[in-house]
Amino acid sequence: MDSKTAEKYVKAGKILGSVQKKARKSAVADKKLLDIALVVEKAVKDLSEGKAKLAFPVNLSLNEAAAHYTPGTGDETVLGKNDVLKIDIGVHIDGFIADGSFTVNPSNEWANLIEASELALENALSIAKLGLEIGKIGTEIEKTIKGKGFKPVQNLTGHGLEQYVQHAAPGIPNIENNDTRKLEDGQAYAFEPFATDGEGIVREGAQSEIFAVEEARLIRNNHARNVLEFILENYNTLPFAERWIADGLKMSEFQRKIGLRELLKAKCIKAFPVLKEEQGKMVSQAENSIIIHEGKVIKLIK
Ligand code: MN
Ligand code: MN
Repeated sequence: MDSKTAEKYVKAGKILGSVQKKARKSAVADKKLLDIALVVEKAVKDLSEGKAKLAFPVNLSLNEAAAHYTPGTGDETVLGKNDVLKIDIGVHIDGFIADGSFTVNPSNEWANLIEASELALENALSIAKLGLEIGKIGTEIEKTIKGKGFKPVQNLTGHGLEQYVQHAAPGIPNIENNDTRKLEDGQAYAFEPFATDGEGIVREGAQSEIFAVEEARLIRNNHARNVLEFILENYNTLPFAERWIADGLKMSEFQRKIGLRELLKAKCIKAFPVLKEEQGKMVSQAENSIIIHEGKVIKLIK
């Protein structure tokens, strides 16, 4: 990784830190999730003077939903005071992504659950160094979360970050495994422990508001072609929300739906269904990203 690239990661992380502060302030009881999403979108624009962009639609996943929920147009869902809301935001500069999340619960009833994922992240970051075996990170996360009386979500992982690729190899485990691959110089990684009072397994739900290009190819349907062109120009291969297309592309809802449907059918795009804890139990998440530059670990959100 050259110094210019490292600088972009660091800057993306700095902006993300400020966006998170605004998001946290806006995430109070009785607030609509859609309004929180709009605060985040505006903050990215305002704080970066257009230089940074969201790397994916803000994930605002409630309670047993661990990830991949984002409010669509007209979504009336409101944050309840006992709700456990994961706010997961990615910011990129020229495709170099800082990925981070935190969890809020207005009543503080679930403070211990939130603390479990936060402490697991803190402990994982504290052992991160050049050459550390990736499996050791999972061991540390599992130990910390179990020590707090909860379980880690075993089939969700952190990940590498590459330019315009939000989920790159290697997966960073949240449970002990035998991965002997090592943290390498010049690489970027996201650590993201999830804690739950359930079994610790998530399954795909039905609902999808988040999509990404899988393989751009020529497609006959006119609406699909227009939608694909818009997506590639604005989001490249990064995830996007249907709401963003509705706001950015002048076409009827009917045409947009047909376009998206045809793109899905042709496997030009893929959907990210909401991931829910199997037993319907509560889930908390904490996430930060690091780069290893010239042998040193740099945390992207301070
Ligand atoms: Mn991530
Ligand atoms: Mn994330």
